[in-house]
Amino acid sequence: MKRLNMVIILAVAVAVVFAGCSRQEQKESAKLQVVATLFPLYDFARTIAGDRAEVTMLLPPGMEPHSFEPKPNDIVRISRAGMFIYTNRYMEPWAESLLKGMDRQRLRVVDAGQGVQYLQNVAGDEHDHDVPGNHGAEGHAGVVDPHIWLDFSNAALMVDNILAGFIAVDPANAAYYRMNAAGLKGRLAALDQRYREGLADCATRVFLHGGHYTFGYLARRYGLEYHSLSGISSESEPSAARMAEMVRQIRSSGVHYLFAEELLSPRLTDTLAAEAGVAVLKLHGAHNLGKDDVQRGVGFIDLMEQNLVNLRKGLACRSK
Ligand SMILES: [Zn+2]
Repeated sequence: MKRLNMVIILAVAVAVVFAGCSRQEQKESAKLQVVATLFPLYDFARTIAGDRAEVTMLLPPGMEPHSFEPKPNDIVRISRAGMFIYTNRYMEPWAESLLKGMDRQRLRVVDAGQGVQYLQNVAGDEHDHDVPGNHGAEGHAGVVDPHIWLDFSNAALMVDNILAGFIAVDPANAAYYRMNAAGLKGRLAALDQRYREGLADCATRVFLHGGHYTFGYLARRYGLEYHSLSGISSESEPSAARMAEMVRQIRSSGVHYLFAEELLSPRLTDTLAAEAGVAVLKLHGAHNLGKDDVQRGVGFIDLMEQNLVNLRKGLACRSK
C-alpha cells in the first residue's frame, strides 16, 4: 500500500512538472524571448526586434556593470530564453563558463563583439605620466578595453552580429529584422558623421575624464587625446598620487572642463575640478541606465547626442 501511494505521488509530481513544462514552452513559442546583458545591446536588440520578439535587459537599472555577476534567477531567465546577447568576454567574463551549462540547441548565443578590433594595453593613466597619448602603462599590459560600443563603427558591427542571431532563430521574420537593423545602422552612421564634423575644429583635443577608462574607442575614432582618472575596471579608488597627478594634468593642459561619468559618485571628479579650478561636464558611457532614464525611454543615440553637446562645449569646438 505504501509503495503504491509513493508511485501515485511520484506520477502526479511528474505530471505536474510536465504540464508546467509544456505551458512554459507554449508561452515561450508565442514570441521569441531575448536576454541582453548591457544597455547598448538591449537597445539595439529591441530596435531590431520591433514587435516580433521580446527583449529584456539582464542588468537591473543603475547596477554597476563591471562587477556584475548573474544570480540564480538570472541564470534561469537566460536558460528559458531563445537568444542571449553579451558584449564580449572582457565585459562579461562570467559568460563563457555559464553558457557551458546551457542547452545550446535551444539557446542561441550572440557574442556582439565578434569581429571587432579590440584596443589592448590601454588602461588608465595610472603610473603612466611619462608615456604620451592613450597607450598605457607596463603594469596594465594585456588589459583589453571592453567598451567597444563607444566607436560607432563597432556599434554597427554589433548590430550586424545581433541581426544574424535574430535571423538564425526566427528566419520567418528575417526581412522585418533586416529592415529594422538597416534603419538603426543608418542612424548610427549619421551620428558618426555628426561627431566627425562636430569635433573637427576644437580649441583643444585633450579630453580629461575624472572616471574609469571608458572612452578610449571614441577618442581614437575622432583623434582626441584621452586621459582617465582610473583604469578599465573602475572597482578600485584612485590613489592620492594619481589624484595629484591628474590635477597637474588638468592645469598643464589648459582645459577649462573636466568630464564626469555616470557610474561613479561625482565626489572625486568634483574634488579634482575644484582643486584644478575647472568646471565639470557629464558624459554617459551607456553601460546601463538609471531608473529615471529607463522610465523616460532614453535610447543609446539620445545619450550619445547629449555627450556630443558636452564634448563640444568642453573642448571648445567651433561649428562649421
Ligand atoms: Zn566601463
